[in-house]
Amino acid sequence: MEALRRLLDEPVSAFPIAHAGPAHVATLKTFDPPLHVLEGRRFAGAERRAKRLLFPTDDGELVLVVHLMTSGRLRWLKPGEAGPKKPAFRLAFEGGAQLVMTEAGSKKRAGVWLLRPAEAEEDVAHLGPEALGLGAERLAEILRRKSRRLHPLLRDQRAIAGIGRAWSNEILHHARLSPFALSSELTDEEVERLAEAIDSELSRGLELRERGAGNAATYRVHDKLGEPCYVCGTPLARVEYEEHTIYYCPSCQTGGRILKDRRMSRLLR
Ligand SMILES: [Zn+2]
Repeated sequence: MEALRRLLDEPVSAFPIAHAGPAHVATLKTFDPPLHVLEGRRFAGAERRAKRLLFPTDDGELVLVVHLMTSGRLRWLKPGEAGPKKPAFRLAFEGGAQLVMTEAGSKKRAGVWLLRPAEAEEDVAHLGPEALGLGAERLAEILRRKSRRLHPLLRDQRAIAGIGRAWSNEILHHARLSPFALSSELTDEEVERLAEAIDSELSRGLELRERGAGNAATYRVHDKLGEPCYVCGTPLARVEYEEHTIYYCPSCQTGGRILKDRRMSRLLR
């Protein structure tokens, strides 16, 4: 998301919006103000809070918020560049460039919101502090607030903003911590390691994404079941936790133990 924000920051503010829409009925989550009020206005740039991209207008009156969820995709099309036939959302700029969102599959989960600044503030107010640059001291506070398993805690945007399930896998592997370890039981040294892993893994990801790397080249643990661990060579394992699949190295992270599935259905029984 941060790589995408950097990519869009300049071009979105270069020209005023000529035409806003079309937007898929399930993609546009707001109807007041209507989308066409964007026309003739110019964005001040692109901002990011957690996984949301925010595009405030330079007159300070509106903010366009985009959340891609898992399968949405946002593309910048130069003047004349061919785009998708049925985008989920499109903005055309004066000069001919376009910002288009597509979403694979029939479920439209990605969303676009056109908000007034106060509403946008409210929308992001419940988010925790940004993961990148968090530091060991603030991380320790979050970890010790309540005893929770590390993987779901890292993914919880209200606790820490900006880490998804894939990066939770990468970070915990780098920190040599079990995804099921309890947050309140970490030693100071383990907290330091986790804080360092958050920074180094997110920075590594950002750098690779900026160079245009895809998932396969970016992730070293996530979605790599059975492939050798890049540190010790042990085949990577996976475990189901609630509705998520977690990838880990049994040698580096759990002292050789294979974790047992804890599915939501079984937890509810
Ligand atoms: Zn390993």
